[in-house]
Amino acid sequence: MSAPGREACLEMDRQDPLGALRDEFWLDASVIYLDGNSLGAPSRAAHARVVQALGDEWGRGLIRSWDEAGWADAPARLGDRLGRILGAAPGEVAVTDSTTVNLYKLLVAALEASPDRAVILSEQGNFPTDLYIAEGIARLRPGVEVRLVERDQIASALDGSVAVLLLSHVDYRLGRLHDMEALTGAAHRAGALALWDLSHSAGAVPVELDAWQADMAVGCTYKYLNGGPGSPALLYVAGRLQSRLRSPVNGWFGHAHPFRFDASYVPAPGIERWLAGTPPILACAALEGALEIWDHAGIEAAREKSLRLGDLMIELADARLARWGVTVASPRAGSERGSQVSLAHPEAGPLMRALIERGVIGDVRPPNLMRFGFPALYTRFVDVHDAVDRLEEILNVGAHRQARFQVGGRVP
Ligand SMILES: *Cc1c(COP(=O)(O)O)cnc(C)c1O
Repeated sequence: MSAPGREACLEMDRQDPLGALRDEFWLDASVIYLDGNSLGAPSRAAHARVVQALGDEWGRGLIRSWDEAGWADAPARLGDRLGRILGAAPGEVAVTDSTTVNLYKLLVAALEASPDRAVILSEQGNFPTDLYIAEGIARLRPGVEVRLVERDQIASALDGSVAVLLLSHVDYRLGRLHDMEALTGAAHRAGALALWDLSHSAGAVPVELDAWQADMAVGCTYKYLNGGPGSPALLYVAGRLQSRLRSPVNGWFGHAHPFRFDASYVPAPGIERWLAGTPPILACAALEGALEIWDHAGIEAAREKSLRLGDLMIELADARLARWGVTVASPRAGSERGSQVSLAHPEAGPLMRALIERGVIGDVRPPNLMRFGFPALYTRFVDVHDAVDRLEEILNVGAHRQARFQVGGRVP
């Protein structure tokens, strides 16, 4: 059976129950955007909400808006909204700082809560910032050890010395999916806490933080959640742990009564103890607008569509790109894959730069991966078709060999 042609893909788009949601986004019609796993697209609702925050709230309300426009409650309010698509109860998620900083706060808290254990266990292929933060903590806390193992060694490396298991649910390079429930269970049987990085799963893959007994989680909101570049990150602490864990960053916004200006620090009783400084209100506004779409789209439907988009990419790559030496590096089984497909080729960088010049935006991860993400809310089946079409055309004529495609910019 031959791979679907363009007309068949257009028909899939016509039949797509989520197809109409694309109109809720601002997308340049001349671009095929397959990099929403790195930076989601702006929605009309995000734009409208930022305009409101700038004009009515900041402009007219000025400082009164901390109360009157609900600015002070934004981190917890947005957290509750996010909790609904992450399987978390109200009061378990906040939106604050960056994923990087939230990792620091939670890892230190987990170590502090387990004084007789000193190992942060993670995997070699985890996202660099996760590992850098763990290393930085080990530098400051004598005795703390960062233990990195291969993916298939994680369960067996969980022993009585491990304070916290730190993993990304979906791996950023290949989109491989961990069994969060099973690994969390294994961590608990070893007496360790589990901290999950949801950067590539939030808004892409169904997650049940409470049901799967996760202890802590972090994640970006500017990827599949479309909160905008640098939008504040999510931070989850299970209700049962909230009084036990404390942030090492005693910022005034995490104080039980920030506006009493007390001389000494008392952490807020709930999730707000994880706030540090003043929340970025304009960025919160963009995220708040961006999250509105989840009132219309279910994460299950989004997952189903993004898997079909990935399957289509794999089928087309096998049919049309394999003879040029392009291989599918991501898991072929949807059950083992997040919402991206990575293709491997020794000339990944030049190929991607040539592809971007032809209006198809993905990205590269060294040394040899081209990554394509499939956010279900705005990606079309025909986009996948046309991306492969253009990649084949580039390979066919060797367009990527031109000198200008040999060097990348600061962000590859
Ligand atoms: C994108 C990503 C990050 C980025 O963290 P920032 O603090 O937002 O820069 C962290 N972890 C993972 C797993 C990621 O994919």
